[in-house]
Amino acid sequence: MKILVVGSGGREHALCWAISASPLCGTLWCAPGNAGIRDVAQCLDIKADDVDGLVAFATANAVDLVVVGPEQPLVLGLVDRLNAAGIKAFGPSQEAAALEGSKGFMKDICAKYGVPTAAYRRFTDAAAAKAYVTEQGAPIVVKADGLAAGKGVVIAMTLDEAHAAIDDAMLHGRFGSAGAEVVVEEFMDGEEASFFALCDGVHALPLVGAQDHKRVFDHDQGPNTGGMGAYSPAPVLTPELQDRVMREIVEPTVRGMAAEGKPFKGVLFAGLMIVATPEGPKPRLIEFNARFGDPECQVLMRRLKSDIVPLLLATCDGQLDHVDVRWHDDPALCVVMAAEGYPGDYVKNTAIGGLDDAGKVDGVTVFHAGTKVAKTPEGDDRVLANGGRVLGVTATAKTVAEAQALAYQAVDRIRWPEGFCRRDIGWRAVEREQK
Ligand code: ATP
Repeated sequence: MKILVVGSGGREHALCWAISASPLCGTLWCAPGNAGIRDVAQCLDIKADDVDGLVAFATANAVDLVVVGPEQPLVLGLVDRLNAAGIKAFGPSQEAAALEGSKGFMKDICAKYGVPTAAYRRFTDAAAAKAYVTEQGAPIVVKADGLAAGKGVVIAMTLDEAHAAIDDAMLHGRFGSAGAEVVVEEFMDGEEASFFALCDGVHALPLVGAQDHKRVFDHDQGPNTGGMGAYSPAPVLTPELQDRVMREIVEPTVRGMAAEGKPFKGVLFAGLMIVATPEGPKPRLIEFNARFGDPECQVLMRRLKSDIVPLLLATCDGQLDHVDVRWHDDPALCVVMAAEGYPGDYVKNTAIGGLDDAGKVDGVTVFHAGTKVAKTPEGDDRVLANGGRVLGVTATAKTVAEAQALAYQAVDRIRWPEGFCRRDIGWRAVEREQK
């Protein structure tokens, strides 16, 4: 088969890595890809949000399956356009991607179909939003409705912070049109985890759970990022809790979206808060994403034992009730290496060495995110950092503690003075193992 993966992050490197290992994969392209993806796919000079360019390439080259990595092209309607051109595509339609693209839409679906989540109200008027916040009290959560790359959410510990967040989004236009509407939510206290399920519009096939580290510095300090590391499985998500997530969150959503005439096809990523209650831990939904998480995808792909291609095809074809999925028992852990300054301004075009050495550590795969290739004066290829999050050093082992040790052993072989990483990825799981 001819397969095209859209995107250029660690998630897409991990997807290309898994797809390229399938006997069903003949030709593999990635648009636009990165320096690491070049090892497993042919990279194309087409941006991930260039819907016209991607449809034209897929049509001209008779691509059999397009796999869309990031949210932006989904929200722009890439899957609808490909389907209209007769091309199979993994990912939700534009309407179904609103589960991620509009927090207000997602909350309305949850309310209508009984999915447990934080109480909320939607506002298009700043004064009304502030009056509601004052009535509810702090802590309270203020979210820009649209996509804001993880920056549109404020956990306000005081009323002043909440009012300022509303002003920023609605009056100062900090997130552009994404902040013209805000969702104000109840603050939920608990432990966060992620769970993933493939959905074909009718059926849902559970994958596995993961936990990530959003804050930039050790001990969960500093600003939020796209994710500084992840591990799978997430010990907090016991098999009983995973069953509840499927029954109470994923399945009602799949049924609800179908009933709304917006069937959800692709991977549904449930961001969860595991809340302590007198009856025991209970999963509540924080958010849905309409694609794999990054870096979570990197640990998921390392744990996946089944061939991924039949799973992707069954998702597109409404056949998820005919496939099963197998996993390696060993946990996987990913340490993200980022460019100094990230998530703020960071330097670009710094040289990275030692990648081959790092990849030789037992059980380690180095996935690339923001990297590109340049020629040295001698005409050799050299890998340069070209983004905020640059590498995902991913290891599997018998325990999380061992996977962590192997990942950091590989990190220490990478020669990149302008890069940094957290040194405590997986701490929660390691602590639980030690108990
Ligand atoms: P991202 O793209 O980074 O996943 P996002 O912009 O889509 O983020 P959310 O996932 O809804 O936004 O929120 C970001 C983070 O804020 C969550 O991971 C969680 O830590 C926190 N958060 C969001 N909603 C709540 C809530 N109701 N109670 C407590 N914390 C919350």
